[in-house]
Amino acid sequence: MLKTYKADLHIHSCLSPCGDLDMTPRNIVRQALALGLDLIAISDHNASENIAATIKSAENTKLSVLAGMEVTSSEEVHILAFFDNLDSISQFQKVVYENLISVEIDQRMIQDQVIANEKDEVEGFNERPLLGASLLSLEEIVEKIHQLNGLAIASHVDKESYSIFAQLGFIPDNLQLDGLEISPFSTIEDVRNNFPDCSSFPIVTFSDAHFLKDLGSRTTNFVIEKPTIRELRMALQNDSGRKVG
Ligand SMILES: [Zn+2]
Ligand SMILES: [Zn+2]
Repeated sequence: MLKTYKADLHIHSCLSPCGDLDMTPRNIVRQALALGLDLIAISDHNASENIAATIKSAENTKLSVLAGMEVTSSEEVHILAFFDNLDSISQFQKVVYENLISVEIDQRMIQDQVIANEKDEVEGFNERPLLGASLLSLEEIVEKIHQLNGLAIASHVDKESYSIFAQLGFIPDNLQLDGLEISPFSTIEDVRNNFPDCSSFPIVTFSDAHFLKDLGSRTTNFVIEKPTIRELRMALQNDSGRKVG
């Protein structure tokens, strides 16, 4: 039976250097439930260490949690990657870490990148340059996501930084994106008018929350049977009654 899932799939936890320290797994789950969300994804910059704790935190609740990541390509374009399970995201994580550009960082310039458990206790810190770019091109990232049966969605295409239009000015013909995300600051009509390249892609919108107060500020409804990548892909393709609506 089809059901509507109210989803916010672009949420930064305290692991992202720009994510507020209150964005802990349990806080995120509580806030999502309070807002009546059905489906979320943690999508930290180039990292995934807080996903397992968020999934655990949501156990025995009505909230489903997908494994996500916001990867930075070599062109400095942000791409959202979503997977069904921890095994796929850990394989993807391995590739991203192998290709993260290690730069000398002035430690005073970055915030703590906190790894927390499901009780919101600090487990450790990620010392990698998570805000940096990777050596992987857009095409390589999308290909890797698909090899691991994930979904690849270009982040906040309307933004003036780290978006595909800001960095490249167009969507390459051979790029197999599953959809485009627009930021909370634009409407779908604005984006379709300003960027004609969008016309052939499904469009979704999420909060890109870095603070609890912003979580769920933009959501997308997916009409699907269950919260899996396969069902989300069908919704994006308007297949068998599944839809984005
Ligand atoms: Zn971004
Ligand atoms: Zn983001």
